[in-house]
Amino acid sequence: MRDGAVAAIDVRDLTKVFGSGADRVRALDRVSLTIAPNEFFTLLGPSGCGKTTLLRLIAGFEQPSEGQIFLDGDDIAGRPPFKRPVNTVFQSYALFPHMTVAQNVAFGLEMQGWETARIGRRVAEMLELVRMETLGDRRPGQLSGGQQQRVALARALANAPRVLLLDEPLSALDFKLRKEMQVELKRLQRETGITFVFVTHDQEEALTMSDRVAVMSDGRVQQAGGPDEIYERPVNRFVADFIGETNFLPAEVAQRGARYRVPGGALLSGRDPHDHAEGAEVTLAVRPERVDLLPDGTAPGNATAADATVGEDVLAGRVAQVVYFGTDTLYILELDGVPGEFQVRVQNRQGAQAEFAVAARVGVRVDPRAVQVLVD
Ligand code: ADP
Ligand code: MG
Repeated sequence: MRDGAVAAIDVRDLTKVFGSGADRVRALDRVSLTIAPNEFFTLLGPSGCGKTTLLRLIAGFEQPSEGQIFLDGDDIAGRPPFKRPVNTVFQSYALFPHMTVAQNVAFGLEMQGWETARIGRRVAEMLELVRMETLGDRRPGQLSGGQQQRVALARALANAPRVLLLDEPLSALDFKLRKEMQVELKRLQRETGITFVFVTHDQEEALTMSDRVAVMSDGRVQQAGGPDEIYERPVNRFVADFIGETNFLPAEVAQRGARYRVPGGALLSGRDPHDHAEGAEVTLAVRPERVDLLPDGTAPGNATAADATVGEDVLAGRVAQVVYFGTDTLYILELDGVPGEFQVRVQNRQGAQAEFAVAARVGVRVDPRAVQVLVD
């Protein structure tokens, strides 16, 4: 966010505890987040990590145990939901079944005392925005799931809230419709300029739709940043594991902030945002698509290595399994001296890549930019 700009939402040290005694649940644990105006911000995490609780606190349906929430710079503690410039879209649409589409969209505006002609214009505008202009007279029961969700969006956008909260709005839709609605939601956010706080447990949805993502687990924000930052530079094992596929390698710091020795003796280079001391035991995260497979000749133990320095940024091993995925091929390797398996994904571009059979000896060249040292 620009310096000096007021955040749309600023959450500071927010804690929410439900129940007491043995039933006590700490749903949120000192969560701090800043969401910029017009941002498409996503809360991503597994079921039970506190995503809905955070939305309900922002909307005012629940009160925090500790901490503060600022909307456009104002502390909104004690302000009831209807006095917050915030609307929510739920997974379950929550439309009024006995009202038409147009009446559903008009409902909130009538509650707010808008005059009839203005409501009519606004409803038409909203139905056009969500591409439902011909279906205003239908009832929710006569609509598909995707159409019902469009009505719910039109209703939530009708009074132009500053912030729209969306709690897993696409998870009830089938795959193809979900893809369509992802594009649709991005368009709506761009066209309206409203700040979206979107909740999902689907990492691909989070990466493809968001300006920024907060990865949550156990009531805490593990990392917040742009999709590329979260993917390329995960700070800990949870984030690296939850987002995409990752190889974890045990290692010892051989040179602080620069080089790491893995079991079997190979040295890898990479960055260490946590600046571990020399000799420290660390875990390296390496993405399967960020490494190259080398033919046998370049693997350690064979002195004819032509295009790789043996043991320097090159691991040695054997192909255990080959899985063809169409766009790419997954090689499951057993590395010399390293427990567990190591995965490599190679794009299937015609003629561009040598193929490797099960049991072949291979080298794995690891680009230093592909190596990230984790906190745990
Ligand atoms: P998510 O939306 O990420 O799946 P929730 O925010 O719904 O997670 O829940 C976070 C934790 O808080 C869970 O352990 C859940 O059981 C608990 N929780 C949520 N709401 C309540 C409530 N009203 N009473 C007791 N526990 C709750
Ligand atoms: Mg939830």
